[in-house]
Amino acid sequence: MDKQFQLEQIATDILQQNVCPDLAKTAQRLVMGAGNLDADIVFIGEAPGKNEDETGLPFVGASGKFLDEMLSSIGLTRDDVYITSIVKYRPPNNRDPKVAEKAAFWPYQVKQLEVIQPKVVVTLGRHSMEYFLPGAKIGDVHGQASRVMIDGLNLIVIPLFHPAAALYNGSLRQTLIDDFLRLPKLIKQMTTLSD
Ligand code: URA
Repeated sequence: MDKQFQLEQIATDILQQNVCPDLAKTAQRLVMGAGNLDADIVFIGEAPGKNEDETGLPFVGASGKFLDEMLSSIGLTRDDVYITSIVKYRPPNNRDPKVAEKAAFWPYQVKQLEVIQPKVVVTLGRHSMEYFLPGAKIGDVHGQASRVMIDGLNLIVIPLFHPAAALYNGSLRQTLIDDFLRLPKLIKQMTTLSD
């Protein structure tokens, strides 16, 4: 079965199983993610915002533009990676996703990773980080790689600050830019060690 079909099936399951019915009522659509289905690197943000809810695409607002710039700084485009968010409906007024909403989407996030089979997951912000690195504090672990086993999937997880949080905070912004610039070397080191 091809990956596109399997990913569409996950979206169908979310709709049929009526995941997060309250969010489903206020959001316009599911935002499942976009990019290269054979990517080695998957970026996982927090939840769609207004622009994402309107277009159905992840990270298309101001933080998406910033993410594009950082990808470009390491020679990558959106076609090289896959980008999604841990919660796949827009929370009303962009409020933080609730614990129950993240938990409801988590099994589908795992399925998405099982289809794509990346080597590396880069979490953007604490909402996705907490599922891959429970108990970790973003201020302590940002930019560091860990090996994590999720449902039989062997992943290298690298937590970064969320671009939206970093966008208007000068020092966080520079930290995120610097962490991003270190990604290629870090990923190379970690994947060479595991080969
Ligand atoms: N922030 C996210 O976490 N995800 C998006 O898709 C857009 C903004």
